[in-house]
Amino acid sequence: KAGMEKTRKNLTENIERLVVGYAQIDDELLEELEAILLTADVGVKTTETLLSDIKAAIKKKEIETPQDLKPYLRKRMTEILALNAAAISQGGHKPLVLLVVGVNGVGKTTTIGKLGRYFRQQGKSVMLAAGDTFRAAAIDQLEIWGKRIDADVMKHTEGADPAAVAYDACKSAVARGVDVLIIDTAGRLHTKTNLMEELKKVHRVIAKEIVGAPHETLLVLDATTGQNAMSQANIFSQAAQVSGIVLTKLDGSAKGGVVLAIKHELDIPVRWIGVGEGMDDLRPFIPEEFVAALFA
Ligand code: GDP
Repeated sequence: KAGMEKTRKNLTENIERLVVGYAQIDDELLEELEAILLTADVGVKTTETLLSDIKAAIKKKEIETPQDLKPYLRKRMTEILALNAAAISQGGHKPLVLLVVGVNGVGKTTTIGKLGRYFRQQGKSVMLAAGDTFRAAAIDQLEIWGKRIDADVMKHTEGADPAAVAYDACKSAVARGVDVLIIDTAGRLHTKTNLMEELKKVHRVIAKEIVGAPHETLLVLDATTGQNAMSQANIFSQAAQVSGIVLTKLDGSAKGGVVLAIKHELDIPVRWIGVGEGMDDLRPFIPEEFVAALFA
């Protein structure tokens, strides 16, 4: 539950206040509910869907009093998040290859470190590949994480071709029998076209070196940016076959409702959530648990 306090307060406590403030469900209540959902960054389309579902449920007498709203929302939100969101099988691949993409500053490097830590904790060997060759700091950061979690780091010098780093990492991971290879990429969005071409090239190189790889392409998004995260998801999913989202900084965000918008509007499942800066502050995303924590 830790890490979602702000969203919980923003969303659920406001819904509770609404429920006790009204004797019956009327248009005014529904308008207020709409505003609450939008403030939590559930998104316009998803909010519309939830409201029309609520209206249909009222007609069918599934919802009769304001008190029925909370359990109904809880159920519907879980359904939306769980739809077609079965986790990709991580077994059977050696190495399991994860490609990590996202804009600078969203917490990409930290997430790679935390992911590596997660697999190290399971006793697996991990290699991190410093594919963000544009920022010297990103390469240094990844090395620090490598030491911290006892993982190999494949790096070239600043300015090197990211695809060459990915190529060497794949070769080396196979040769050394590494269990999990996590590949970083650059995230400078202002040179969008180049960035997307670069991503495609990195993807091609990985797919050529290791059959079926990358097994997962994870897009890292910052929960505190709300609807901005949505537009990033849109852009990246056009260039890379994004198979899952890591939503970071949920601990500092009241806009965690964006999880729903991403899943409902882009149909990309959230796989992991970041709930702090420490190396253990990454959790697998489980829809039922997430919604339960929201409505706790
Ligand atoms: P990058 O530029 O995308 O690689 O971002 P970094 O990994 O360097 O992270 C940027 C900042 O966000 C750092 O100060 C991280 O400690 C912080 N950060 C990353 N993930 C989380 C998280 O889940 N919660 C919090 N509170 N901070 C985070």
